[in-house]
Amino acid sequence: MTPTTSNVVPCPEVESLDAILPEEPLLMMGAGPVPIPAAVAKANAIVINHLGGTMAKVVGQVKTMARYVFQTNSKWVLGVAGPGSAAMEMAISNLAWSGTRVLSIKNGFFSARMAEMGRRVGADVSLLEVADRTVATLEQVEEAIRRVRPEIVTIVQGETSNTVWNYHLKDIAALAKKSGALVVVDAVCTLSTMPLEMDAWGIDAVITGGQKGLSSIPGVSLIAFSDAAWERVKGRSHASAHWCLDASLAENFWHNAGYHYTAPVSGVLALHEALRLVCAETLEKRFARHLKCSLALQAGISAMGLQLYAPAECRLNSVVGIEVPTKDRPDLTPGDICGHISRHHQVEISGSFGLPIVRIGQMGEQAREHNLFRTLHAFGRTMIDLGVNVDLPAGVAALERSLASSSAKGEALNA
Ligand SMILES: *Cc1c(COP(=O)(O)O)cnc(C)c1O
Repeated sequence: MTPTTSNVVPCPEVESLDAILPEEPLLMMGAGPVPIPAAVAKANAIVINHLGGTMAKVVGQVKTMARYVFQTNSKWVLGVAGPGSAAMEMAISNLAWSGTRVLSIKNGFFSARMAEMGRRVGADVSLLEVADRTVATLEQVEEAIRRVRPEIVTIVQGETSNTVWNYHLKDIAALAKKSGALVVVDAVCTLSTMPLEMDAWGIDAVITGGQKGLSSIPGVSLIAFSDAAWERVKGRSHASAHWCLDASLAENFWHNAGYHYTAPVSGVLALHEALRLVCAETLEKRFARHLKCSLALQAGISAMGLQLYAPAECRLNSVVGIEVPTKDRPDLTPGDICGHISRHHQVEISGSFGLPIVRIGQMGEQAREHNLFRTLHAFGRTMIDLGVNVDLPAGVAALERSLASSSAKGEALNA
């Protein structure tokens, strides 16, 4: 018999990773993923049995540490194999179904995603549209709650796309709670970079990813449900269509040491180490580090002569948005800047979904002084190379001044 060759797929010739990856790793200073500490990288290289005593101990510690980071005593902490978006979908697809009234406060790209996920499970989603670079006022939220009578309110703490911080979050959660709605908060960008107190603020579900504030790898995320939210999950009359994201099935693995699907063991070990480093640092010191570094970076960028995108009162510190300057170079695009700084300085920064800005992250390991100096210098040089008139020495001086003065203040406080 002669073999038929027509359907045979030939073995491909490809390049090795060594040939593809840059010789010197790029410094990841964009809107995520962010650099990971050595302990996280080491854990991520290990595979263990996804069931059994060792894994159960790791999972137990992950939940305990996550409760500290979420500031909750709720039992219902779960991990998710998937991006931050999978945790968002886990929240919405377990808490909402056909006809559920959802009010989504939409500040931009990511808060719109939450609304879209609600529509896809058949929920009756109403948007509170917030203008770019502003936050919803309490009056607007109150009015929307009266009109919509939502069972669920969704909101993002930090809208990474346009770098807006929803600083009314605590009061908005209180308004929603008073009306009897459950509050779902997307804290993918912000968790462990700035205060969020799930229990004290009355939040019913908090979502986070690995690769942003926590400085872990992308692909393993965390979610916490309040008792009230968990009651709604357990009281559903029909199972969610999303089998992998079904919180009741995930309970098997995350609470009963049983099988749901094979957990991403390496990623869970990496997350364990990322959380352990947060605990070792403490939230207070971590928030202070992020604030100090982000404000210094903002001071440096402003002193160079560039404009920050979000107004000061609602400016997100975890990701800094910078307007693309078009005075000297009307045709300059975010892609030009990101491409140049990556190729010439081995520093990665981000554009933003069509907005005329570039973004520099201040999440986890990004918020370190040595990374700030390298990034600000690379950014200023890039601008000059691209024909934009900036005062780079003034920027670096302002960065140093801001870091030095907040160190002095910190020492005075500790004295
Ligand atoms: C990054 C981000 C997401 C999405 O996370 P993925 O891991 O890309 O799915 C959602 N919300 C916010 C606020 C984010 O910053």
